[in-house]
Amino acid sequence: MTRARTTSRTTSAKAGSVFGSRAAAAAFGAAYASPLVQGHLRTLARLESADAAEVREWQLSRMARFHRQWGRPVPYYQAHPEYLQGPLDDLPVLGKETVRGLAGSFTNPRVPARRVTTGGTGGRPLDLRISYASFFTEWAHIAHVWGRAGVRPTDPKITFRGGSLGEGFAGRPILFQPTYNHFLVSPFHLSDRTFEDLLDRLDEFRPMAVWGYPSAVTPFARWVARTGPHRALNRIRAVLLASEGAFDWQLTLFRDVFAAPVVRWYGQSEKVVFAGECPRRTGAYHVAPTYGLTEIVDGRIVGTGMTNAAMPLVRYDTEDAGTLLPPGPHDARCVCGSSFPVLTDVRGRWDQSLVYGTDDEPISTAALNFHDSSFAVFDRFQFRQERRGEVELRVAAARRPETSDLTRARRLLQERVGDRLRVSVTVVPPDTLLSIRGKGVTVDQHYRPARTQERPGMP
Ligand SMILES: [Zn+2]
Repeated sequence: MTRARTTSRTTSAKAGSVFGSRAAAAAFGAAYASPLVQGHLRTLARLESADAAEVREWQLSRMARFHRQWGRPVPYYQAHPEYLQGPLDDLPVLGKETVRGLAGSFTNPRVPARRVTTGGTGGRPLDLRISYASFFTEWAHIAHVWGRAGVRPTDPKITFRGGSLGEGFAGRPILFQPTYNHFLVSPFHLSDRTFEDLLDRLDEFRPMAVWGYPSAVTPFARWVARTGPHRALNRIRAVLLASEGAFDWQLTLFRDVFAAPVVRWYGQSEKVVFAGECPRRTGAYHVAPTYGLTEIVDGRIVGTGMTNAAMPLVRYDTEDAGTLLPPGPHDARCVCGSSFPVLTDVRGRWDQSLVYGTDDEPISTAALNFHDSSFAVFDRFQFRQERRGEVELRVAAARRPETSDLTRARRLLQERVGDRLRVSVTVVPPDTLLSIRGKGVTVDQHYRPARTQERPGMP
């Protein structure tokens, strides 16, 4: 099984707040065309074909400058200046719990930022500050990866993902968002009827990519396999997989059905490591040196970010496991030509975690994102499912949550899932949310759908 995840569900939030108009679409187009994004793209292209020693030198100098400029005002580094001076090898790794426990100590107060709460990975939400400029750097890195398959962020797309790109679906399963130039399909309304409507609405739109959660793209791919080929889909150049792991059978299905390569990338809300999958080697992710410095410490992916000036994290433990290798198996360069090191065997938070809707349709918990301050009052959470179409969100907090907190959380979740799932919220003692190994789990799945992850009527 191989897996991939994206950071775009958080990076898109700012654009989402202004989307829906032609002005917003133009603004996103302008952002993509901006000197900041285009400069990053040129640097990435230049470094990727440079030799590894040159890349390393560029990176260290860039990082020193980033820390001089943005790290010094950060309270934690004023108390621990060694984190900004390097070498890092002897310094303790900073864990999520350290950053959580010292809220505010990792923030540069001079950098304008928006607040983001990370998804419930590990069961404990973390409050982050993300600089506005990160929106551009994030898109530059995503565009670099998509560009390997000939797709630009402004190209026409069909997208299967949750409401984190802006406003909710408001009862409509298909939404055209000019900002992203895509038809957005709710992951909670994946029926034949929705797919037929989508094809009708595509008309001359001619999407160049399918973008979304693997679990949400799967029913569409199966429908296309059963009913296609469709002329409206014959320009698709890539399937862009976001936010969660994909099984090997899903990769094969997507490549076959859409006759296009699958593009995946790895990142996290904390913005310390970004890596795009090699177009020639499945499961090998080339680490972008422009995004951060990546290490493996005790088998875990540890990163020092250099794109988020609002919260520069040094030697931060992503809680994902992985292996870091030289660019190519026998050489300083990969078969694809890249000189960027390779992350492989990536495992962790992004394991596919599914719950099942009223028709036994699989729903990714990545679609039930927690990037909302209403969830920041909880220390841990986990989904538990025992019956079809019903899911219980179990939450825990040091301070017992108010009834109004629970009501608001339930309402937000219910709005996201529409009529596909009935949501309840329950407070439980924190230690009941730990697995045997002491690590929080995201989905405690007790229900088995009769047709094992197939939708009714699927081949
Ligand atoms: Zn490669």
